[in-house]
Amino acid sequence: MDKQRTKASGLSAAQARAMDGAALAARFYREELPNMPARPTVGLDEAAGRFLAPLSDSGMPEDEVIAQIVRDASGGLHSMANPTFFGYVLGASHPVGVAADMLVAAWGQNAGSSFETPAATGMERAVCNWVIDLLSLPSGSGAGLVTGGTVANMVGVMAARHKLLAAQGWDVEADGLFGAPEIPVLIGKDAHSAPFAALRYAGLGAARVRVVETDGEGRIRADAFRRALEQTDAPPLVILQAGQINTGAFDPFGELIPMVRERQGWVHVDGAFGLWLAAVPELEHRLAGVREADSWAVDLHKWLNAPFDAGMVIVRDRAPLVASMSARGAYLPETTGHWEPSDSTPELSRRARGIPSYAILRHLGVAGVREMVARHCRLAARIAAAVSAEPGIVVLNEVHSNQVAIACGNGPDGNELTMRVLRRVQERGKVYPTHGEWAGRQIIRASVIGYAMNEADADLLSIEIIDALRWCVDNPD
Ligand SMILES: *Cc1c(COP(=O)(O)O)cnc(C)c1O
Repeated sequence: MDKQRTKASGLSAAQARAMDGAALAARFYREELPNMPARPTVGLDEAAGRFLAPLSDSGMPEDEVIAQIVRDASGGLHSMANPTFFGYVLGASHPVGVAADMLVAAWGQNAGSSFETPAATGMERAVCNWVIDLLSLPSGSGAGLVTGGTVANMVGVMAARHKLLAAQGWDVEADGLFGAPEIPVLIGKDAHSAPFAALRYAGLGAARVRVVETDGEGRIRADAFRRALEQTDAPPLVILQAGQINTGAFDPFGELIPMVRERQGWVHVDGAFGLWLAAVPELEHRLAGVREADSWAVDLHKWLNAPFDAGMVIVRDRAPLVASMSARGAYLPETTGHWEPSDSTPELSRRARGIPSYAILRHLGVAGVREMVARHCRLAARIAAAVSAEPGIVVLNEVHSNQVAIACGNGPDGNELTMRVLRRVQERGKVYPTHGEWAGRQIIRASVIGYAMNEADADLLSIEIIDALRWCVDNPD
């Protein structure tokens, strides 16, 4: 027991120092980030070795624990929150979201219940409403705040599973999938791995899908889609994509979704990052028709730059969402418009993960979100133009959004050179793009998505890639 605890304070002196120390260390980290190397300076063995000791018998005061964590993490953290991080597709944990996240932890609310934490519920409802509005999705849709894009896809697929099987007279929540009628599943050849994981989790099987041909940008081909649909003998689940991971391209929603409607199917859209273009009036035509789908998965920890553990599933018809997710049992009456958070996510108890997104949306406003997404798309085009002006570099995609697929040398013969160039760029430590594969080639993939990225960051990336190529050509292995 902590003997220093008094009625006047809920914190002992060491606990207070721990909280202040963490807040200060958090601020110091972000202030120093521009001066830090782009990647960790110690490897896994050394970094992990600092922590992987046997648990001591005696414990340690709270402030010393925080000091130890800060000290031993040093050099082992990746500067993912810096605007020079172009890897994968990752948001950069906006500081106002980080600050709000500290409150989330301190408040210790179980946000699964609206009755027990009305303030957290209010903020999370606002996030759901605002995101639905920003993305021009149907108002009145059901929404759930989940851990990220993968789980958002899973929840969307499970809502679809409920609806499509109920239409065939099958109660999947009660009776499971053994003996259930078939649901044909269609998905594009260049879909992300996450919807396949979603199909696995939902018991629909990742391998029994019908994979539909795509074009050179990874978009589903309407003719191939029509043929695949014609071969289905029950209302299908169709998974479309807003934002291909390598090209940033969008499936032709306006052409495809009406075909699914004719067959009473369900359209789920994996829009983890790309759906955010729907918030920008001058770009939204690129995903025309996307709002006609039945469900959408979108990340908040990607383009909105929320700290990690933030995704959202949106389902046009709230009833199948609640039927598939509610922990209160599958036989709930469709609640009278009452929004109970645990009804639309897999968890019963959870942190109030919507609050950091509330803070970021409040900070940016509609105009701020639009400016950020539009700026990132512009910067991606700027990078593509800069690097492709260099002989020996090709950009393999049209820039549809924020992703640039960069290859060096001639065709697959250039693969080795591309990988050398990527390694050199990463080792120099000024910027950090990562690897991908596209059109049968190794690529350097640049994702422009950090909230603070500007022209100088984009140009630094282009220069680093061009310089690395020249160096690799002058210094063969
Ligand atoms: C990142 C991503 C996902 C998975 O989202 P997580 O938040 O990493 O779980 C799914 N689909 C696409 C297109 C993505 O870019």
